[in-house]
Amino acid sequence: MTTSLTDDQLTEAAEILRSGGLVAFPTETVYGLGGDATNARAVAKIFAAKQRPRFDPVIVHLSDPEQLATVTTAVSPTAASLAETFWPGPLTLVVPRADTIPAIVSSDLPTVAVRVPAHASARRLITLAGCPIAAPSANRFGGISPTTAAHVVSQLGDRIERILDGGPCRIGVESTVLDVSGPLPVMLRPGGLTREELEAAIGPITVATEHLPTGEAAPAPGMLARHYSPATPVTVTDTIDSLPAGRLGLLTLHRPASNHDWSHVEVLSETGDLVEAAAGFFAALHRLDDAGLDRIIALPFPDSGLGLALNNRLDRAAGS
Ligand code: AMP
Ligand code: MG
Repeated sequence: MTTSLTDDQLTEAAEILRSGGLVAFPTETVYGLGGDATNARAVAKIFAAKQRPRFDPVIVHLSDPEQLATVTTAVSPTAASLAETFWPGPLTLVVPRADTIPAIVSSDLPTVAVRVPAHASARRLITLAGCPIAAPSANRFGGISPTTAAHVVSQLGDRIERILDGGPCRIGVESTVLDVSGPLPVMLRPGGLTREELEAAIGPITVATEHLPTGEAAPAPGMLARHYSPATPVTVTDTIDSLPAGRLGLLTLHRPASNHDWSHVEVLSETGDLVEAAAGFFAALHRLDDAGLDRIIALPFPDSGLGLALNNRLDRAAGS
């Protein structure tokens, strides 16, 4: 399914990044909006293009786990072992920030969030650029995350220098963010690497509380209650007996036993496979949002594996 990008395309895009421009590129999680992480002006352009508030720090992408030491002042044994086990992959580590990374990247925090993506073209692009790449998701702030190049075009097409099309993203939800800058690892955002996989490697981890009023101080900066949101209102409920009137769409893992006359239905996996569901989740949300509905009704996912990340995205899409 992945469209491979040619070295010529990647070389040109890397040149744009080196000269301070912005490039959207595929990763295994979602499409990223990249700029040179060592160039504060390039990073300022990322915030401007996304209309992202400056208090929401962005993730720095490296092409090789070895480069971790170039963006942090201290690689702890835990960080080293997690990087060794899970990179390249959908795990972001929050570590003490070195001076090579300007403060704007981290919204002035003394830490920086870092990962090595598993997508080969993404890593090749970063290698060719020759610098760490700051890259949040390539959508307008608060909107639905992009898992295809077309999603990026519709939200940011007129605002950035280049959009690389690598086909649909394999995982489909953002990386798991784990803060390893303190004495105990804390999961700040559930994502593409499951809690179970992490705990099998390093033992029990704390998960930060995530239900927060919009705009208020969060356990992680930028962890707002409303995010990943379609323009259409979303209700998350596991009881579909009493539904509001109007044109309703359904987002569900399985096909439910209900004879409601839905205007649009998105079944994420007929077999209930959470991996398949995650891969199609944001694209389904985009389609529901484009279907002219009065409301999207979403059924919660099981709270295990990738279900944790999916329920987190659903809750925020609903702004609850
Ligand atoms: P994304 O929009 O996928 O780039 O996600 C970035 C998210 O990672 C932010 O919204 C924060 O919640 C989290 N993050 C990034 N940098 C830091 C940091 N230095 N400390 C804590 N969380 C961070
Ligand atoms: Mg995002």
